[in-house]
Amino acid sequence: MKNQAKPTEYDIASTVLDEIQAHRVRIALQLVATICMLAGVGWMSLFIFQAQWFSVTVDAWLAGVGAAVYLLNRSGRTRVAAFLLFGGLFLVLAVMSLFMDVPNATTPRVVHLYFLALAFLAYLILQNEHYLLKYGVIAVYLVAFVVFSSTHLSFVTESAQMQDVALAEDIRTVGAWVNGMMVTAMLCLVLYVMRSDFARQTHVSKELSIALWDHQFVLYYQPQVDQHGTILGAEALIRWQHPVRGLLPPKDVIPVAEKIGLMIPIGHWVLNAACHQLAIWAARQETAHLVLAVNISAQQFRDAGFVPQVLSIIARTGIDPSRLKLELTESILIDDMDDVIGKMAALKQAGVGIALDDFGSGYSSLNYLRRLPLTQLKIDQLFVRDILGNVHDKAIARTIIALGKALAFDVIAEGVETGSQLQCLIEIGCPAFQGYFFGKPVPIREFDALVLKQGASPPHAVLTPLNE
Ligand code: C2E
Ligand code: MG
Ligand code: MG
Repeated sequence: MKNQAKPTEYDIASTVLDEIQAHRVRIALQLVATICMLAGVGWMSLFIFQAQWFSVTVDAWLAGVGAAVYLLNRSGRTRVAAFLLFGGLFLVLAVMSLFMDVPNATTPRVVHLYFLALAFLAYLILQNEHYLLKYGVIAVYLVAFVVFSSTHLSFVTESAQMQDVALAEDIRTVGAWVNGMMVTAMLCLVLYVMRSDFARQTHVSKELSIALWDHQFVLYYQPQVDQHGTILGAEALIRWQHPVRGLLPPKDVIPVAEKIGLMIPIGHWVLNAACHQLAIWAARQETAHLVLAVNISAQQFRDAGFVPQVLSIIARTGIDPSRLKLELTESILIDDMDDVIGKMAALKQAGVGIALDDFGSGYSSLNYLRRLPLTQLKIDQLFVRDILGNVHDKAIARTIIALGKALAFDVIAEGVETGSQLQCLIEIGCPAFQGYFFGKPVPIREFDALVLKQGASPPHAVLTPLNE
């Protein structure tokens, strides 16, 4: 609904691996752009001296592409810079291969070798692009490399004018050595980066596997309350108690785990831990009513064994399934809808609650909503944050609440930080809340203490923060 660049699950760019990738892309672009500028200006000066105006134009184009990429990259427009680089260089190399560096019996063509080196570079630089775009660019470069390697394709004819365009033999001989060495250096650099990438991934992957095995993950609990401030339950949020780096947030765990295929075992651990906690709560009168919300990543939900896994954990821990609530984000909806609906229906039938997390910030189609067997909509914090200052945010929150009522879903607002935000949400009919105003995510002991304290003296004023 809200057209704002807000990732539905995680800000991928904020993960350890992607920060490294973003930094590397910027450096690589600066480096290649500088080389293009220097090479363009250098060759251009030589050709001006020799009055070879066609070559001057091509090298001016090369220097121009380098300068534009350099400036765009410096101003933070890295993606545009990357596409300009690959588009611009393709043209330069094609023109050079067709008109200037034409093979003959004594000197081979070498400029086309850059197509191969740039295909490898594209693999590194465009790593986070859509696969069609990434592999499309790589394929175009590789096809050009194969064509120019396997043929003597050129547009240089016998006419005197065209002969002037082709480079002089002495320049081509020197160029063959220089370009051959440059391409080899580029390929070595790319292979080195790929190898260190692999080593880094292996290291992070090892660390996460050890964390799972070594019980370094913990769940924190953030209260969810009703209009009277009574604690209805909590959302379980993962933390990584890293032996060196201290307590790490989910953004340092989940995106990396998804990338390296560890999300399913980690998600399984979270579900297990949450259900064990529910079993402990069930044994105590003061906590038996609490509902625990557990976040499920799209990758985890997509797994064919997900539903049987949830049902088996419920059976093993002996909990009341209606005390468990699974929070899914709208990102699962890009998958096969029938499969998604089938899984949700099986879980709902077993009595498990299903909430749609961060609702309103993802896909705008409301059509799927009536088809999904949900039990709760969770208004995204984005709308709560500015609910007092932005009439549109307030209108959207009001609409989500009305939508929830019409479709018989519960509604909860997350990210409530102030009494005025809460007051505003109550006015527009929101029945449940979560946010720092009521309490930040805390370890289980602190959460239990909060519940017990409330049980001893039930809250009367809704505007009282729980932890005061
Ligand atoms: P989420 O499910 O939308 O969880 C809410 C996030 O907002 C939590 O961040 C919470 O600490 C934060 N939050 C709650 N109230 C407030 C508030 O009033 N103000 C502000 N500024 N923030 C508030 P956290 O713990 O860093 O989790 C971030 C995301 O990581 C979660 O977003 C969820 O998508 C994901 N996540 C956390 N634990 C798990 C997990 O066990 N499994 C999976 N798959 N994802 C998880
Ligand atoms: Mg959540
Ligand atoms: Mg959320």
